Amino acid sequence: MREYRLGDIIDDYCVKCKQIMNHAIVSMLGPDPAKVRCRTCHSDHDYRREQAPPVLRGWARTREEPVDVLFALLAGDILPPTVFNLGGTPGWAPTVQLTALLRAHPAPGWLRVASRADVVAGPWFDEDVTVVDAAGRVVCQARQLALAPLPGAGPHPAAGASA
Ligand SMILES: [Zn+2]
Repeated sequence: MREYRLGDIIDDYCVKCKQIMNHAIVSMLGPDPAKVRCRTCHSDHDYRREQAPPVLRGWARTREEPVDVLFALLAGDILPPTVFNLGGTPGWAPTVQLTALLRAHPAPGWLRVASRADVVAGPWFDEDVTVVDAAGRVVCQARQLALAPLPGAGPHPAAGASA
């Protein structure tokens, strides 16, 4: 295992540059880097262990029917769980509570969907989803509390079930 020292140059995810960049260690917490400074934009931030923030983006549309308010509502929970891009075990991440606001009738065409988690604490995470229609209007906002998959829990019990 690597031993870190103040001033060492290490890779980390820069929250300003939005990619993995060279950083200098500016403070330590025990044996681990606590704060790092990006050598490109010179911003200081907590050491992120090269992890990008839990954010997912995607596009969705119906195959044949026009995009309607029910599909806009569905799009509020259409992306994979946001915590999947933090590593860990992919699997069933059950929604425990979900609130959705339908803001407008969607224009025909693709919906743009973005989700992010603000707090990932133990197995619990929140997820804020914004759905924007082809005209650039917010059509749905959804917020949920969910459980991350348990290590070794395997896929959703219904996955692969046959009738
Ligand atoms: Zn930077």
